[in-house]
Formats: sequence, structure tokens, C-alpha cells
Amino acid sequence: MLKSEARVATDPLCPCCGARRWRSVHADIAGCAECGYQRMEPLPADVVGLYDEGYFTGQKYHDYPADKRLIQATFVDRLRALRRWLKQPPADLDLYEVGSAYGYFLEVAAPHFRSVRGIDVAAVGATEGPGGAEGEVARGDFLEAPLPARSVDVLCMWDTIEHLLDPWATVAKAFEVLRPGGVFAATTGDVEAALPRLQGRKWRLYDPPFHVHYFSPHSLSTLLFNAGFRVLGHETCPTVHSVDQVVHGLATHGGETPGVLGRLCRRLDLPEFVRQLNLPLDLRDIFMIVAEKP
Ligand SMILES: [Zn+2]
Repeated sequence: MLKSEARVATDPLCPCCGARRWRSVHADIAGCAECGYQRMEPLPADVVGLYDEGYFTGQKYHDYPADKRLIQATFVDRLRALRRWLKQPPADLDLYEVGSAYGYFLEVAAPHFRSVRGIDVAAVGATEGPGGAEGEVARGDFLEAPLPARSVDVLCMWDTIEHLLDPWATVAKAFEVLRPGGVFAATTGDVEAALPRLQGRKWRLYDPPFHVHYFSPHSLSTLLFNAGFRVLGHETCPTVHSVDQVVHGLATHGGETPGVLGRLCRRLDLPEFVRQLNLPLDLRDIFMIVAEKP
């Protein structure tokens, strides 16, 4: 159980702006009437138990380790975007990642930074104990990790903040462990983007109990500002898929009654090298936000 459990489960306040006026967005999703932040309703009592080996191999991801090449292609892009916001050469900076899973991002980032470390509640590929050596993923809760104040230059979390029980406490701790001038960077879905507005509850990123929180650049900026950060900016970011994944997705969409595109994709017989090609897709509903500790 996380320390913050009791507080969050009964917290009537919006974690971003502190307002206490809620409206019903969907049957299981509530939204802050002030800043647009949304969350699953009711809030879960615990989330850590959701993330075991099964989450990464079959239950949620088809096979996360098998898709390592594509996942790392996305991380190469995230790293490129992150580096554009840094004022110092990465070789002078210590990076810490929250929600590292198998450490695929740390592997991509390691050659560029002075040091890289990460943490994940999941027991996958992580070392035992909350400390963790350089380049390794420690197993545990970031909120309880024994990190000295002002010991990190870059703190990042990719598609992680929406899974946490207490994003406010997490951002507050990120502020504490960053050095002055340090950079916080996160990616998450944008609940105010065109796609969720169009698709409503069918939006693929509405995914309770895995996704507890639903931010927008506005609501997440508000949270970061209230935690003491200076928000530098935000941008949408692509996710890299293979041609095979996209064709398979289109072909199976619609089940027994596929649309024209689905029928076309079912008949496609692409050579293997085409199926394996990388296809960066930016649906404009995932954003990276970057903020600085003054
Ligand atoms: Zn709010």
C-alpha cells in the first residue's frame, strides 16, 4: 500500500488546481470543473498490484520484450525531443527515470548522460531494493526511494504519470530531488485533444484502472506550476509502430464487419521487410511537457 493511498482515495481536491467542483464526464470518469483534469471514479485503493509480468506479456501489452526495437525507437525520439530543452550538455547531467519497466529508455539514454538510474514498481527486469545502481532499474515506489534532495539534473517519466495513485506527491518529490535549474519531463495523453473529443469514452487512452488520471497541457502545467516549477513548454510526440502492427490493427478493427480499409488490410500480403518498417505515428493526443526547477 502506498503512503498516499488514504489521502487520495478520499481527496475531494483536484490535484492540479486544488478546486473541489467535479462534473461527471463519463460513467466512470469525473472531471475538474475548473482546469479540465479528469480521473477515474471511484479512485482505486491501490495500483501497484496491477503491474506484474503478466501486464507486460499478454494482459496489457501483447509482448513488451518482443517489441523492444519499436519501443526503443519511440524512446530515441523522446530523447531527441528532451535534449532540445536542455541548456547544458547531457554529458554533464545525472538523469533519473520514474517508471522504467525493463530499462529500455535508460539503455538508450546511458551513452549521452553522466549517469542514468530508474525505478519501477513492477518486478520486471528490476533489481531488488529501492536503491539501484547506476544504469539499473530499482524496484520500488519512487515516493519511498532514498534519493537525496538536489541530486538529479533531469527527472523524466514517459507515459507513467497517468498510472500513479498520487501525481501531486510524485511531482512534489521530483521537485525536491532535482537540483536548481534541473528539468522535469513527462509524456501522457491529452484528454483535450481532437481525438478524445471525437471518440468520447472509446478513446484508447481511457483505460481505467491502469490509467487513473487524464491530463491536458493546461491541467498538467497548473499542477507543475503549483509544485514550484516553471513550465518551459509542451509538444505532441509520435509513437513508433511497425507497418505490421498498424495493418493488423486496421484489419482487426470492426470485428465481423470491417470497413473498407479493414477489408483492404485483410487482403494485403506485404513482404516481411515492409511489415517490419518503422512507422512513427503522431495522433496529436500524446504530449511531452517540460518544466524547470528555478
Ligand atoms: Zn482542477
